[in-house]
Parts: sequence; C-alpha cells; structure tokens
Amino acid sequence: MRPMAALRHAPIARAAQFRALAVSCGIGSRETAAKVAAVPPVSKKMAPGVLIGMSESDLQQLALEFGQDKYRGKQLHQLLYKRKIKEIQDLSQVPLAFRNELQEAGWRVGRSPVYKEVTAADGTVKLLLKLEDNRLVETVGIPVEDAKGSVRLTACVSSQVGCPLRCSFCATGKGGFARNLKSHEIVEQVLALEEIFKRRVTNVVFMGMGEPMLNLKEVLEAHRCLNKDIQIGQRMITISTVGVPNTIKRLASHKLQSTLAVSLHAPNQKLREQIVPSAKSYPLDAIMNDCKQYLLETSRRVSFEYTLLAGVNDTVDHAIELAELLHKWGPGYHVNLIPFNPIDGSEYKRPYRKAVLAFSAALESRKVTVSVRQTRGLDASAACGQLRNEFQKVPLLGDANIEESEQVEESELEMAVSS
Ligand code: SAH
Repeated sequence: MRPMAALRHAPIARAAQFRALAVSCGIGSRETAAKVAAVPPVSKKMAPGVLIGMSESDLQQLALEFGQDKYRGKQLHQLLYKRKIKEIQDLSQVPLAFRNELQEAGWRVGRSPVYKEVTAADGTVKLLLKLEDNRLVETVGIPVEDAKGSVRLTACVSSQVGCPLRCSFCATGKGGFARNLKSHEIVEQVLALEEIFKRRVTNVVFMGMGEPMLNLKEVLEAHRCLNKDIQIGQRMITISTVGVPNTIKRLASHKLQSTLAVSLHAPNQKLREQIVPSAKSYPLDAIMNDCKQYLLETSRRVSFEYTLLAGVNDTVDHAIELAELLHKWGPGYHVNLIPFNPIDGSEYKRPYRKAVLAFSAALESRKVTVSVRQTRGLDASAACGQLRNEFQKVPLLGDANIEESEQVEESELEMAVSS
C-alpha cells in the first residue's frame, strides 16, 4: 500500500490523517507529529495507490488515515468487490471530500478497460484487458453447467504479460515476455469476468498467460484477495506451473488448500526437454520429489497436466511410462489430459480421439486417475494466449514504461523469479 510520504500533495488529508491516528493512539496534540511520524505505513505489500487488492482491514486503516470513520473502509470494500466500482468518483456512497482527497493523493481503483471481448459458441468468453502501460492481458471465463443444472464459472487468469518459458506448443510463449502482473491486475481479471457474466466466479485457475511461479509473490497476494475479499474458496483455486526450481517448496510452505497443477507433458526427461525447453534446469526426478513434499506438507493432491501432441507423446507406451513414473513417487496423483489446441506457426497436431481414449484407458487400467479436458472456446481464438497475440504482436510502442526485452534469455529467467 501507499506509504504515508505519498500523501505529501494532500496537506488537508495528511492533517486529518494525523488527527485520526492521534485519536486512535490516544496521544495528545503536542506530541502528535513526532509520534505519528514513527507509525509505519499501512502495509508495504500493496501496489502504491491502488485500492483493488486491499483487504477490509487495510481499507479501514486507509479511511482512518484520511480522517474518516473506520466503517468507510468496510463500505469501500463492498463497493470495490461487490459493486465493482471502477473510478474513485463513482464511489458515490462515500463523502465527496474523501473521494477528492483520495484522488488528490494519487489513489485509484485499479481497474483496466476491456479492449476486446470475444464470445465462443459454447459461451466461453475471452477478454483482453488493456493495462495502464497499454499492454494487453488475456483472461477467459468458462461457464459449465453440471448434471444438476447449477452453473460453475471458472476464471482462467493470467499471471504475466506473455511468458518467458516458451513451451514449444504454447501460443503465449511464442508471443514473448513483457512483464509480471501486479496482484491487482490478476484480481481485476476475475472482477471483469463477474461483471460480464453477471454472476460470481466459482473457480479460478492460474492457467492463462504466463508462469505463476515466476511471479509467486504477486500471485500469492492475488490468491489472498480472491479468497478473503472475493470469497472464492481456496479449494476452488488451482495454480498451474511448468516447474520453476525451488518454487514448489516455497508454495508448499504457505500451506494453502489450493490445488497445485504441474504441466508435465512427457513421462521422461529426454522427451520433456524437447517439448519444454525450461525442463533442462529442473530434472523430472527433482520435480516429482518436490510434488511429493507438496503433498506431504499440504495434504493436497497434485494434479499433472499432459498436453497430448499427436505422434510426439501420445502413444500407449508413453502412458505406461507415465503411470510407472507416478507410481514410483507414490499415490495421490491425478492426470489431466489436454488434447493439443492448434496454434498458428506450430507443426504439432491434435491427436485423434481414439488416441486420447487409448492413452486415458492405459492410465486408468494402471490405477492412475485421469480426466480429459474438454476443449472450450476453440472458435474464440484457440489456445490461451492466441487472442492476445492477434492484437499485440509486440507490446504497443510509444510507451515510456515499455523497456523490457520481448525475448528473455534463459540466464535472465532467474531475475524474473519474484523474491
Ligand atoms: N505456465 C503454466 C500455466 C499456463 S498454461 C503452466 O505451464 O502450467 C496452462 C496449461 O495449458 C498448461 O498445462 C499448458 O501446457 C497448456 N497449454 C498451453 N498451450 C496449449 C495448447 N496449445 N494446447 C493444449 N494445451 C496447452
């Protein structure tokens, strides 16, 4: 959150803020300035000046800092996350003076405009949000009706603009990497989808653009907000990774009740390196060991994603080898098969249904639980990342903030891992 120094352009607000703190600390007016100056900022974790992502208690503290009653914080919380207000001036339930002071101090809600919306025949909606620096990020809403007629709405959210990992079959990787998303830029994807569908998002999967484990700090902050502020159950949230050394352990230490999904795509190291170049720096045995530890530490089953590429990794022999690998590392694993979604500029082919079923049956007969992901939204620009690539071949020019290279070398990957 914004440190107090950021309020320097708002003397009235600052005076009010000091008054409020003095009252809440029970200190006299003469001592106020010196004592208040030692009070730490509300929280260093929040992106400066952005309301989305803030918890109810942070918002209450903010209200106090601006000389308002604490309940204004609760009101802000409702307006941001339930009413989905986008501009400070639209927070019409809160006093005009407070709104003005927030604005003058540089606060903003932190919602981005929808740049493009595409609806597929099956109801899947893909959105491109235009971020403050003109970069485009993709998010997908997938409505699913279950047998009892109740509808789940899954948000497939992005964690980065682009991706530096360049998995050979992935559209996002082909479009290059621009930057990590801030936590509020992840949270707002869910709010934008709730607005469009006019219903609550029930599930969130970090399976959009980017590698969440390369942006773990912001992903964890977004996870907190999605869970606590937007009230999506932890068990309804899945974090998907292709594997970044040391990060599965870090995630496990947070003991979330969310699902870890690991994108495996091959049953052995040699084939995996062909499909996933970043696999070279994280041997399969090390990934499997980290997954085992994740399960022990969180008691949560790990799920493995396996994109089926015709003639590359989709034979029954591959399935047998995969089952052996999983059994070697213990029970409690699930495989999610994803038939390849064709993308521009890729030679890979989608396997025939027969091959998918044979692969799946070979796993099941070896007591590996398996599901086949239904392809959704194909007519709305195929695989994830493709819609963004259509509109942003390279990040838009003419923006002072755009300085990172589009192509990140492997040696630079470490720098992309958030601390
Ligand atoms: N970087 C993370 C999350 C993003 S991709 C990860 O790799 O897990 C989410 C899933 O979609 C991954 O399993 C990825 O391998 C898969 N995927 C990406 N492009 C695909 C395509 N064209 N066809 C099928 N699956 C794809």
